[in-house]
Amino acid sequence: MISEAPTAAELQEHPVVQAAFATAWADSLVDQPGMRHEEGGFIYANLGGEVTVRRASPGGCLFLDLSAPPDVAGYFLVATYHTHPIPTADGGEPEPSADDWKWADDSGVPWFVVTEIGVFVAGPNRRVGGFGGPGGYPQ
Ligand SMILES: [Zn+2]
Repeated sequence: MISEAPTAAELQEHPVVQAAFATAWADSLVDQPGMRHEEGGFIYANLGGEVTVRRASPGGCLFLDLSAPPDVAGYFLVATYHTHPIPTADGGEPEPSADDWKWADDSGVPWFVVTEIGVFVAGPNRRVGGFGGPGGYPQ
């Protein structure tokens, strides 16, 4: 039997994940209009319930490349995260975009979006297929 992966809600409460969100938000330079950019990365878990993260390269104002999660030995990708750094006051849209939803649904893992008004989740509630298959995106 394949074990279920942690849910988005469980991951969101994990201190490793919370620290990763805080670091990505700080690194997005939200307070510097000319420097704002998306940051984020990949969240992994293993069968022992341990959680670890890997950062993606910094993105642009409105994009971040999350297409190639690195392999982490013994771990499965269970979520991605990225920031939406443009404040609503400057025309930003904090909520997950239509593309975020499409990519999250297609990828088979939850996608967290870290914003000035909180953390949103797009896509499935947890990694599709549990701890099995490839270590990266399950589909
Ligand atoms: Zn997005």
